[in-house]
Amino acid sequence: MRIVVALGGNALLKRGQPLTAQAQGIAIDEAALLLSAAAASGHQLIVTHGNGPQVGLLALQSAAGPAISALPLDALGAESEGWIGYGIEIALRNALPEDAVVVTLLTQTLVDPKDEAFAHPTKPIGPTYDEATAKRFAETNNWSVAPDGKFWRRIVASPKPIRIIELASIKRLADSGAIVICAGGGGIPVCKGPDQKLSGIEAVIDKDATSGLLAEQIGADMFVMLTDVSGVCIDYGTKRARVISRASPRALADMSASFGTGSMGPKVAAACHFVSTTGRAAIGALGDLNEIIIGTRGTIVCPEGGEISFRDVP
Ligand code: ADP
Ligand code: MG
Repeated sequence: MRIVVALGGNALLKRGQPLTAQAQGIAIDEAALLLSAAAASGHQLIVTHGNGPQVGLLALQSAAGPAISALPLDALGAESEGWIGYGIEIALRNALPEDAVVVTLLTQTLVDPKDEAFAHPTKPIGPTYDEATAKRFAETNNWSVAPDGKFWRRIVASPKPIRIIELASIKRLADSGAIVICAGGGGIPVCKGPDQKLSGIEAVIDKDATSGLLAEQIGADMFVMLTDVSGVCIDYGTKRARVISRASPRALADMSASFGTGSMGPKVAAACHFVSTTGRAAIGALGDLNEIIIGTRGTIVCPEGGEISFRDVP
């Protein structure tokens, strides 16, 4: 099968772990072993990834330097795509046979400069702060900040992805048998001006939305989103929580209020959209990748029926 695998920030760095090169290396090596097992079973992989913690850290580093050197978010998105893509590529090379072809592609994603997300930033990036520190940064760095649970974080615009600029290149590479690492961090946000020329724009696109668009347009048989929970839960965070083992988009639509708006919500939305236009989607834990592909773990979203089934949280 041709499978788009989206690696979440939580799949690439254990929750609560510091964003050190060593901690990321360990997490990425684990992901690479699982991906190489999937490739060894004959699946053709296109690997995408998030960049939330990394792009936030780069923004902080950039803001700490002289004001004239502060970089816009599209440049930081390109940096994080290169940084994380390089990490995944080297780990995959170490896990795969020497003759495997692995390519990391800097990917740009077209957005609409009139997208209402630019007026209402919602996407949290970077570390958490107390309220006073967040408000100080808002003042000094000209950031938007908002509460995220008990803490505060910087928030940025997260416009809808419209088109993946390198789609034809990604398709050619995948058709030729390469494992392609692309659309990192949702892709570098670009827009078209009145002269139809492309230019970067300050935003961070949701990686699940871009990955879903890519999966659809590249004709993937399956779209898998990996994170740190074993699947989509009902009654999440309570003792009654249960994992949804299988559901149709119709069944999930009735429950959309129970999926976190900045976390599980976009994954469920991306899964349902892919299933309604193309194939089968799944959401689950990184370590379960190969069981998710055969359909025995994770939450499988498939078109048939309006039914829903559950299993206990492991
Ligand atoms: P990633 O960055 O790995 O893509 P997110 O943090 O965006 O992952 O989304 C995964 C998180 O969604 C889980 O760690 C969990 O805390 C949260 N979440 C919110 N609602 C649910 C739910 N109904 N079922 C499972 N997880 C949920
Ligand atoms: Mg996320």
